[in-house]
Amino acid sequence: MNLHEYQGKEMLASFGVRIQRGIVATTPAEAVAAAKKLTEDTGTGWHVIKAQVHAGGRGKGGGVKLAKSLEQVEEIAGQIIGMNLVTPQTSAEGKKVHQVLVAEDVYYPGDHEPEEYYMSVLLNRATGRNMIMYSTEGGMDIETVAEETPHLIFTEEINPATGLLGFQARKIAFNLGLSGTAFKEMTKFVASLYKAYVETDSSLFEINPVLKTSDDKIMAVDAKVTLDENALFRHKDLAALRDEREENAVEVEAKAVGLNYVDLDGNVGCMVNGAGLAMATMDLIKQAGGEPANFLDVGGTADAERVEIAFDLILKDPNVKAILVNIFGGIVRCDRVAQGIVDAYKNMGNISVPIIVRLQGTNADIAKELIDNSGLDVQSATEFQEAADKVQAVLA
Ligand code: GDP
Ligand code: MN
Repeated sequence: MNLHEYQGKEMLASFGVRIQRGIVATTPAEAVAAAKKLTEDTGTGWHVIKAQVHAGGRGKGGGVKLAKSLEQVEEIAGQIIGMNLVTPQTSAEGKKVHQVLVAEDVYYPGDHEPEEYYMSVLLNRATGRNMIMYSTEGGMDIETVAEETPHLIFTEEINPATGLLGFQARKIAFNLGLSGTAFKEMTKFVASLYKAYVETDSSLFEINPVLKTSDDKIMAVDAKVTLDENALFRHKDLAALRDEREENAVEVEAKAVGLNYVDLDGNVGCMVNGAGLAMATMDLIKQAGGEPANFLDVGGTADAERVEIAFDLILKDPNVKAILVNIFGGIVRCDRVAQGIVDAYKNMGNISVPIIVRLQGTNADIAKELIDNSGLDVQSATEFQEAADKVQAVLA
């Protein structure tokens, strides 16, 4: 589960991580009030207005803007709230902005120019250990840095038995070229950041940029936080931060009824029992020249009611041109599933795309008869290749 930048920053601050301060606003008037409050507290008078959506690259898409007066705060907040923000990380339609973060401008002039760094905390799956990835090349895509100047990306792996050690935090500060106050600030920053990562059961922190201000403070200017869904039961306060508006509506609906559904871009809907078979089925669809429109694991009980819910979810996607049902009858009997499909089809009365059903396992033969004699636009298949061929035929 992802957090908004403002939520991530608040969480980090609660662990002692220094952040660029800000207040979230849902209207231009609220944005002005927020800016006034921030100015009273710090006095710089300039603010950045930042779109709060679950996507990176907001700056590039016009979702992060500097306001040098309260009039500009109002004007820019008015432009950004309600806009469809398109960034390199969103779809072409973009994401609707419901709120902005009004933040203090921390790029103020001083003894030296502010400097941007990159820092993330994540799991190295190869070694099974957490690591801190960091670079002097902050503020830009880390993918680009990795491609063009990979030697400027450093990693520090953490031994779970000892946690982050003092020398590791100092090494990071050293590799970033820091000294004096900034060096000390960075070691504190890294230690609190890592503590936050572990204690919140996060799976990814990406702080890009981490800023060294012109007076040598180290702070998080951005915060992308991903929490481990499987650990959310331990963090009721964080779980409550979920913003369903940011998630795919069909995925939210599927989750509510206990179905494992992931929306994809293709044209063939699929309904499968078991995650492994679902993956294999997606391969099958590709092999047949189609693209999967979704991943859907209906689980063990594929009765009429569940099949109907599943069809309903799949058909919410207007790109679906055919549906492939691939069920292995191990615990569930194939004839029950087949009956479920036929009943659901008749019940719904609005299925307008061809359905190919492959049932294998207990009572597969009875199931095939049921499908073949149903008189509906449903074709049966027994073998994998046969199913692929039939999908190909209906797409042609
Ligand atoms: P992202 O584009 O979604 O990654 O959003 P960020 O929060 O990283 O902001 C994008 C860029 O806005 C940063 O890389 C900074 O260059 C700039 N920015 C953020 N905060 C400030 C600020 O306080 N003052 C100024 N001048 N620029 C800022
Ligand atoms: Mn960023």
